[in-house]
Amino acid sequence: MEPSSKLHRAHVLVLPFPGQGHINPMLQFSKRLVSKGLKATLALTVHVAKSMPAHPSSSITLETISDGHDLGGLAEAESIQAYLTCFQAVGSRGLAELIHKLDCSGRPVDAIIYDGFLPWVLDVAKQREKLGVVFFTQTCAVNNINYHVQRGLLPLPLSGDVVEVPGLPPLEPLETPSFVCKLGTYPASYDLVINQFVNVDEADFVLCDTFYELEKEVIDWMSANLWPLKTVGPTLPSLYLDKRLPNDNAYDVNLFTPITTSTVSAWLRRHRHPPRSVVYVSFGSMADLHASQFAELAHGLALAGHPFIWIVRSTEQHKLPRDLMDSIPSEEALILPWCNQLEVLESDAIGCFVTHCGLNSVIEAICLGVPMVAMPQWTDQPTNAKFVEDVWRVGVRARADESGVVGREEVERCVREVVGGGGGGGRGREVTESARMWMETAKAVMAEGGSSDRNIDEFVEELVSRVSSGSVTP
Ligand code: UDP
Repeated sequence: MEPSSKLHRAHVLVLPFPGQGHINPMLQFSKRLVSKGLKATLALTVHVAKSMPAHPSSSITLETISDGHDLGGLAEAESIQAYLTCFQAVGSRGLAELIHKLDCSGRPVDAIIYDGFLPWVLDVAKQREKLGVVFFTQTCAVNNINYHVQRGLLPLPLSGDVVEVPGLPPLEPLETPSFVCKLGTYPASYDLVINQFVNVDEADFVLCDTFYELEKEVIDWMSANLWPLKTVGPTLPSLYLDKRLPNDNAYDVNLFTPITTSTVSAWLRRHRHPPRSVVYVSFGSMADLHASQFAELAHGLALAGHPFIWIVRSTEQHKLPRDLMDSIPSEEALILPWCNQLEVLESDAIGCFVTHCGLNSVIEAICLGVPMVAMPQWTDQPTNAKFVEDVWRVGVRARADESGVVGREEVERCVREVVGGGGGGGRGREVTESARMWMETAKAVMAEGGSSDRNIDEFVEELVSRVSSGSVTP
């Protein structure tokens, strides 16, 4: 049973951007806060709440606000820019009303934890005299690049062969986020990531969904020169990390049709695939691969000769090369529109994750010790892929040709290099061992006394102390 509100040390209202990769970490972080004695209310957009098959964990109270697109969400809007403008206008009003409602209900809100993609929430928080806590869902490396762009410290368009940003290794231009490197490709998305930093200096706390050990250099630089940020990740369910939160074994919110675990596990069992022999392929919830890339990937996987599980969202399935797919025996390939990725990655049979390098996928692979083949598409993914290969050394990058497509031989080469690498020599062996090492570290940071666990404790203590002393600066 939920404890009485009087026992809660403070009440936080959590507002993620309405995307799977944003709701997951912020909901998971909310569960951690509840486990530390706070009350957490998660505000989802009406559209997301309606499309959710399952209700989030009972320890979190769910509320909704309108983004002005209650029926179809972002997909219904004319453009991303139109959506964001509408969300800010309608959302600001809705959020203010929600805060008022909660304040009147006897469970007043003390702080708003808001997604960096929604910087306007800080204005609402300040107007209502609440603490404003920004939560960044990209790596600190990417945040630092975007911060430098926003402040004019990294002039665009990029010039020269090397991009230097403090705390980061030298980057090739193509290793920076795509909006920075290919200026003008997605102007609305560029605004979204860059505007995260317009008012960050006024936030009461800065939280990042990463962990200290993973990004020491850049975190030390940012903490010393920008703001006292706290890393609070990884935000996987506790079952996959420290196992301290009872019943925290899934993300709870699924914007796509979930596939029952049994589909994948039955397939793996039926075909008795040996440990670390199967390739898992997924490009997340948004990537929009060209049909030619689907064809090259399919051929490359077939050439590599390892069984594979490939997640292809239903809206993308028409791009699969039908003839080739039909010719692959069912024990060699399982195509699904969506799955429980954590359960799949946790399986002993999985030896490699071919990923678009969305941050959640990368962190999940790290936490579960699965080496990667990186095939970044856009946004922060090229930078994440750089770190996967050269900094964390947990995967190899598949190189695209001049047209931007990764060819079948390159897919074959990378998959062969990574799968079964533990037994062989060279790069495959190195990435397999690093993956195992990073998995141990990732689990340790969330265990009692680990770096993120300590940061969460400190955040809770500081928040409660500011709430008790009434030091909220409008
Ligand atoms: N995911 C999932 N099932 C799938 C594919 C993805 O549950 O079949 C989850 C995955 O575990 C991750 C999220 O969806 O938490 C995708 O986030 P990521 O940052 O990797 O990519 P995005 O979708 O934001 O591009």
